[in-house]
Amino acid sequence: MYKITHVDATSVDDAVAKLAEGSAAAIAGGTDLITTLKGMCTPTPPAKIVNLKTISGLKYIKEEGGMLKIGALTTLTEIAKSSVVSSKYTVLAQAAKAVGGPELRNAGTIGGNICQKPRCPYFRNEHNAFNCLRKNPNGLCYALTDYNVKHSIFGAAAGCVDGCPSDVAPALVALKAKIKTSKRTMEAADFFVVNGEDMTALDADEIVTEIQVPELASGTKSAYKKFAFRKSIDFPLVSCAAVISGSDASIVLGGVYPIPRRATAAEDAIKGKTIDDANATAAGNEATKGSVALGQNKYKIQIAKVMTKRAILACK
Ligand SMILES: Cc1cc2nc3c(=O)[nH]c(=O)nc-3n(C[C@H](O)[C@H](O)[C@H](O)COP(=O)(O)OP(=O)(O)OC[C@H]3O[C@@H](n4cnc5c(N)ncnc54)[C@H](O)[C@@H]3O)c2cc1C
Repeated sequence: MYKITHVDATSVDDAVAKLAEGSAAAIAGGTDLITTLKGMCTPTPPAKIVNLKTISGLKYIKEEGGMLKIGALTTLTEIAKSSVVSSKYTVLAQAAKAVGGPELRNAGTIGGNICQKPRCPYFRNEHNAFNCLRKNPNGLCYALTDYNVKHSIFGAAAGCVDGCPSDVAPALVALKAKIKTSKRTMEAADFFVVNGEDMTALDADEIVTEIQVPELASGTKSAYKKFAFRKSIDFPLVSCAAVISGSDASIVLGGVYPIPRRATAAEDAIKGKTIDDANATAAGNEATKGSVALGQNKYKIQIAKVMTKRAILACK
């Protein structure tokens, strides 16, 4: 690993100031960042990492002002084990619990989870062997024509066909959460965008400070279903986050597009209907409307239908 400076941030403003100096990256649990640094995946690795864990007051789960608030440094284990999250925002607790294995969830934070880098093997290849277009605007998307077993089934976003690796991101979009940063508050649906190496709209000197989930209408049920090749310590190939109340439904897929993908046709198919096998199957079939498999990932289309059906049925 190359020589790198590690500095502790004392406050959100201090972290922002240190990041603004340039060639810097924030670090929280480090479970994602360290692997990209060790692999020298990027052509412009940061010279400095700014430790966010030394900022006090960014680790909490509380209900306040008609919403659930989660500090960016809260670990996935804390979220998965929280009784308020499990009982009222089940989809989020299940998504947090679906991440990696216990060690990763003990160290990994919600802020780091939603800011993780692409998982595409071309992006992650050591020593930047493939200078893909997420790192270089003049680069290529190698997955379009070569290995693409795990990639998008809904085409490219800004030329990239990665599959969103975050388990938590689709759950937050389905919950219509807001992401509070050091400079603004954004809808989760606007926060996730293909932005160079990142899947967020964050600027280089901006950090996530809080996740805000609006209180759900009484009777709302939610669930997260994930399919991966391995039963643990594996990224989602296809996942589905569903939040359903009598007349409303919010259904978002993960793993099938570079960022979370709302399945509006599936939402329309289940809104106001009885949740039973026939209606869930019909909505599941709608979830892949407009999908376009790449050379090696047609299997994901059927799995997306089934994950959607299962997530809906779990909201019964
Ligand atoms: C073997 C393995 C398996 C994994 N499996 C899964 C999985 O199944 N599902 C899944 O979703 N993830 C998985 N991960 C990825 C990762 O462990 C998790 O996403 C974890 O939640 C990342 O959190 P962290 O705090 O460790 O992030 P870090 O590694 O500290 O940071 C990740 C990125 O986010 C940025 N960042 C961190 N905090 C902030 C903040 N507050 N504001 C702005 N930017 C920030 C960092 O600069 C960095 O670019 C896996 C990782 C490994 C190594």
